[in-house]
Amino acid sequence: MPQYKVAIVGAGPAGYFAAQALQNLQTDELKFSIDMIERLPTPWGLVRSGVAPDHPKIKTVAKVFEKIATSDGFSLYGNVELGTDISLDVLKAKYDAVVIATGSATGKKLGILGEELPGSISAAEFVPWYNGHPDFANHEPNLDCDTAVVIGAGNVAMDVARMLALEPSELDATDTATHALEALRNSKIRKVVISARRGPEHAAFTSPELRDLPKLEYTNVVMSASDVSAALERAGAEPEKEVRNNLEAMRLISELEQGKHARTMEFQFLCTPKEFRGNGKVEEVLFNTSAGEEKVIKCGLVITAIGYVAEPLAGISYEKGKVLNAEGRVGENLYVVGWAKRGPSGVIGTNKSDAADVMNLLVADMKEPKPSVDLISLITTNKVISQSHWESINAAEIAAGEPHGKPRIKAVSREELLRLGGL
Ligand code: NAP
Repeated sequence: MPQYKVAIVGAGPAGYFAAQALQNLQTDELKFSIDMIERLPTPWGLVRSGVAPDHPKIKTVAKVFEKIATSDGFSLYGNVELGTDISLDVLKAKYDAVVIATGSATGKKLGILGEELPGSISAAEFVPWYNGHPDFANHEPNLDCDTAVVIGAGNVAMDVARMLALEPSELDATDTATHALEALRNSKIRKVVISARRGPEHAAFTSPELRDLPKLEYTNVVMSASDVSAALERAGAEPEKEVRNNLEAMRLISELEQGKHARTMEFQFLCTPKEFRGNGKVEEVLFNTSAGEEKVIKCGLVITAIGYVAEPLAGISYEKGKVLNAEGRVGENLYVVGWAKRGPSGVIGTNKSDAADVMNLLVADMKEPKPSVDLISLITTNKVISQSHWESINAAEIAAGEPHGKPRIKAVSREELLRLGGL
């Protein structure tokens, strides 16, 4: 019976769904042994370090990941970095197939003047900071100002704005990183402006996220009724379903009673950022409006949430921030899934069908299986997090959270994570 060996690089949703697709394709005649390699000591990718802490329901997909991880033939190799602890060439030589599932982790740049000033950061730094990603724990976003501007009209911009505009006690029962919770408690920010370059009818928010906003208990959510009615007019009589749902959700927001709370989240449309200005740090953002005028917002923090590009890996070609690929095929026995393949779009579940399509191609390409491989003997680090090490970390974090009514308290530094794993 052929048993094929597949290495999946990246333990985020796309990686797990690729593993699941392979597991589902198994028959009595066809078996896979799957080795998942992850550079962090923790798996789950964006489910751990991307999804907003106040959206715990979205994180329940981790249960699916753990079922995949504890199925026969699956092994986790955490704290192992491709290019450092093992090379792509070795993986390609030893495995029947290698699947790149490394996502897109770098924030896109606006490319405007002042973008590098202190006080200007990308959501690609801010989000992993509040989620306790080890590489971002030492960031210190400037929360010592009254107003923050978030550039972009997608769900990441919305997450970032909400995290800044929530009453911090609302985050007590979440798994927000301890360092971020403390900083947010001391935050002086009371107004957060989400700024879109196009109109409400073109916003990339999804309607469930918009419909949640009126439920915020301690934050005014402000959207101009005239912005929404002009968008309804521009959208015409038969807008697409998503646009119709979004505009309906926005109409409800625009009708909310205002001014009750100390914290405000305000939407601005049809304003293109032109320059971040200030004396050694961000003090204001200059916009061009659709009416051909200039508009200035005074602020001490500006966060760009305008999309992501993939971080290049040695030996792989990239185009427009994605791995160069044809429907997921990259080269001889090399494949790509998820955001690294198609760019940063879609919700977590989108990766399921996407990965399944690529795994069908992978199976169709299979030749004679290669001899079995002992990955551990090929890895240069001896601090490898296995599934059982990870289960120890997971259990310790959950136990630490329990007395505080939190789903978990995340360990943040690599050293602490390895210690909890027993290494
Ligand atoms: P996104 O949905 O693609 O939104 C990016 C936003 O940035 C768009 O509004 C875009 O405007 C704007 N933008 C791009 N370039 C710009 C520029 N140069 N100047 C000004 N604005 C610019 O990306 P995302 O918010 O990063 O989200 C990534 C994916 O994750 C999305 O599919 C999202 O739905 C998903 N996600 C889902 C959830 C959830 O389900 N709760 C949470 C977070 C993320 P234009 O349209 O004008 O280009």
